[in-house]
Amino acid sequence: MKAAIAPKIPHQPHYRMRSRLIHGTFNTKRWDYDHHVIPPLSSSTTFRLSSVERGAEGFIDFGSEEVPLERKVPIYIYDRLDEPTRGMLEENLALAEQGEVCVTFSTGMAAIAAALGVAVRQGQEIIAHEQLYGSTYSLLTSWLPRFGIPTHWCNLRKPKCLRDCVTPKTRVVYFETPTNPSLELIDIAALRREVDTLNQDRKDNQKLLIIVDNTFATPYCQRPLTLGADLVAQSLTKNIGGFGTDMGGAVVGPRFFYNLLMGYRKDFGGVLSPKNAWPILVYGLPTLGARMANQQKTALKVAQFLESHPKVESVFYPGLDGFPQRELAQRQMVDYDGKFAPGSLLYFILKDAPGSSRAADQLVDYVAEHAYTITLAVSLGQIKTLIENPYSMTHFNLPPEEKEASGIHPGGIRLSVGLEDWHDIIDDLHAALEAA
Ligand SMILES: *Cc1c(COP(=O)(O)O)cnc(C)c1O
Repeated sequence: MKAAIAPKIPHQPHYRMRSRLIHGTFNTKRWDYDHHVIPPLSSSTTFRLSSVERGAEGFIDFGSEEVPLERKVPIYIYDRLDEPTRGMLEENLALAEQGEVCVTFSTGMAAIAAALGVAVRQGQEIIAHEQLYGSTYSLLTSWLPRFGIPTHWCNLRKPKCLRDCVTPKTRVVYFETPTNPSLELIDIAALRREVDTLNQDRKDNQKLLIIVDNTFATPYCQRPLTLGADLVAQSLTKNIGGFGTDMGGAVVGPRFFYNLLMGYRKDFGGVLSPKNAWPILVYGLPTLGARMANQQKTALKVAQFLESHPKVESVFYPGLDGFPQRELAQRQMVDYDGKFAPGSLLYFILKDAPGSSRAADQLVDYVAEHAYTITLAVSLGQIKTLIENPYSMTHFNLPPEEKEASGIHPGGIRLSVGLEDWHDIIDDLHAALEAA
């Protein structure tokens, strides 16, 4: 008898996640690329179909509950429906977030809009934490109300407050943790317990859903689905992409949402281009573990340096002993091996006259002009260290009282720590603090 083709190494869940992020699902059904070491970059807007029947089958399969995902070898028809390079990235992102399925989008905002879009409909309401990423805030305040979906604000740092904010119309509880920019944490597991209690008397299609934006922590430092979130949305533009070359977004969650998300993406059209998916699949996600492990080591050193500097009033970094929510940080932010993983972002406040952003503006301007390892730019989660002052930049538009209430201090500076040698980052900060 002729020897069968050598069996592929089966999926090996007992391997550690650092290895699995590099090798991915390995024996993907998305594309047979046995002889490639690197997954191929496909670039084809439309796909050749062998018969009319095959085309019809593809359309019937798309979004069909009948075809179990595990068995599905997709019939590719048109890029906006489904596509192999993006599909491989989705398999690996689902693995990274420890969710059943992932659907990617053209940006983080497209992913957040989709997560909300499939969860909530006209007549229902959203409860969101008071402090949110700027564009998410304007999505909730400028756009969703046009479709009859209002948002109510609640301080979700105190999970019990949810009881007071919830109405029979509430459908979604939405937040980021850590928050932007002041790195406050929200207790996902505690909110799950609150939501479970509130859901007891609700019908299935009215049950509260928890949606978490996991962009800041990344799945390396925190897996909200394992703590009780229903859906995770995130930007791939930041730490998952990691190199700052491409935009992208993803929603990860249970199988139940797969067809809804795929249908939403098909009709609203915010697909991730395979050319943008490829670097995230090949460079970004496989190096996430190595980058985060190093960046957070540096972030702790930088945080400790800043904490000891006389011109710095306070430093917020979940890895510091004195972090106000230390116990929650250690419980919630852990890597795949269960080790504390406080992330690569920190926020510090400079001493200044009350209400003045002079010191922070001066320091950031000094950095922009003189620092080699620190770049003045918005965005975060790259191998290059980035600095910005939210009060004067990203959160400029908020009225001063609201900035103050959301912890956006005039002297506040956000630092996204990259992969440079930590001595150099500290030297650059030291020089800027001396000069400012
Ligand atoms: C950047 C960011 C987004 C939006 O992602 P884009 O890819 O820029 O659309 C959403 N949430 C958070 C917390 C972010 O940092």
